[in-house]
Amino acid sequence: MTEVEGKSCIAIVGGGLVGALAACFLAKRGHQVVIYEYRSDIRMEKSRGQSINLALSFRGREALKAIGLENILVKYHGTCMRGRMLHDKDGNLKEVLYDSVKGNCIYSVNRRYLNVILLDAAEKYPQVQLNFNRKLVEADLEKGKIKFLNTNTGATEDAEADLIIGADGAHSTVRKIMARRPLFNCAQTYIEHGYVELSVACNEHNKFAMSGNNLHIWPRGEFMMTSLPNEDCTFTGNLFAPFYVFEKLKTREALLSFYTEHFPDLLRLIGEEKLVEQFFEKEPQTLISIKCKPYHVGKTAVIVGDAAHAMVPFYAQGMNAGFEDILVLDELMERYDSNFAKILPKFSELRCDNGHAICDLAMYNYTEMRDLVMKKSFLFRKFLDKV
Ligand code: FAD
Repeated sequence: MTEVEGKSCIAIVGGGLVGALAACFLAKRGHQVVIYEYRSDIRMEKSRGQSINLALSFRGREALKAIGLENILVKYHGTCMRGRMLHDKDGNLKEVLYDSVKGNCIYSVNRRYLNVILLDAAEKYPQVQLNFNRKLVEADLEKGKIKFLNTNTGATEDAEADLIIGADGAHSTVRKIMARRPLFNCAQTYIEHGYVELSVACNEHNKFAMSGNNLHIWPRGEFMMTSLPNEDCTFTGNLFAPFYVFEKLKTREALLSFYTEHFPDLLRLIGEEKLVEQFFEKEPQTLISIKCKPYHVGKTAVIVGDAAHAMVPFYAQGMNAGFEDILVLDELMERYDSNFAKILPKFSELRCDNGHAICDLAMYNYTEMRDLVMKKSFLFRKFLDKV
């Protein structure tokens, strides 16, 4: 890649949601950007794994607006969720609006689609290079040196950059390399709950089988189901439960009797065969929360998104907070004229406490859903008795 005077060469490790967004912002400022992504190009694949939809809220929208992608996503491909729809065991429903005054909503967006349009947008800049099948294995963060494994050929490749941005997710290698340094604090917590993803097909008229403008929740105390609407009138949801509960759901009979007892309406909607098929397709996934400080090394490396502050998903803010990281980074680029020696310490100063706070809030919501929801659903039953 040819150097442009006054502009930096920036290596972004990770071409997920936050890495791809960062590439757009940096390229807009004229920097040379190379993304190194471990996996193959998601645009060439039909579908990819877990949590296929995400709740996009104000923070995330602001970032997308700045690169001209908000409209296409929200207006044309987002599904408005105006509130939570609570389902009790008897199939009774209660809607709790997010904003009963102005009617604002959050949007369910497809993770894959979002990643695809962000990569497409990044690639439109001539100074962005996308390298897939490159796994970061080692780095000298102070010297801007990085080593990758080319997973196609098995060869290792070296590269250099003025700035290394670690956008490599919750299990970030960049963060692990930072952790070898003195005065870097990092705490990781796996919660005792895991999740399994399940989907609800559209009804016989190809319409939503439940209200399409809600985030659906089946609170059941220690465990719960959630479900978000998709553009194609299906829903994608998760069963969140302690691992000891998943341990008891190892057979078809156990699973069906669990759903008959706790989620009978969902069982009807998903169907027995589909439930069994989907549930046993994969092992339950773990959920991790990461708090670390600082987010940068000198003027040469910084971590963003889940690499800096992975959180449990109960506040639906992981991606949104990651997108906000990039907005803040961009504001600092403007304020300090792309001088990384000033930008990176300021970024840590501004973002670490916020990152820790949103991790705490997400964890609080996890406890709230696990413990208080019982009380709330009790109140809900009382409420239903009255109306
Ligand atoms: P990732 O999306 O994890 O991307 C990291 C990328 O780095 C990946 O492409 C990976 O392949 C690559 N990579 C990893 N290691 C290397 C390496 N060594 N070398 C090169 N590349 C590497 N957030 C919300 O805002 N709203 C929601 O509703 C929401 N729901 C969620 C539901 C669930 C069940 C879960 C688990 C999470 C949810 N989140 C939600 C959180 C959201 O998924 C994350 O915050 C978001 O994906 C973070 O983006 P990222 O780019 O930082 O990391």
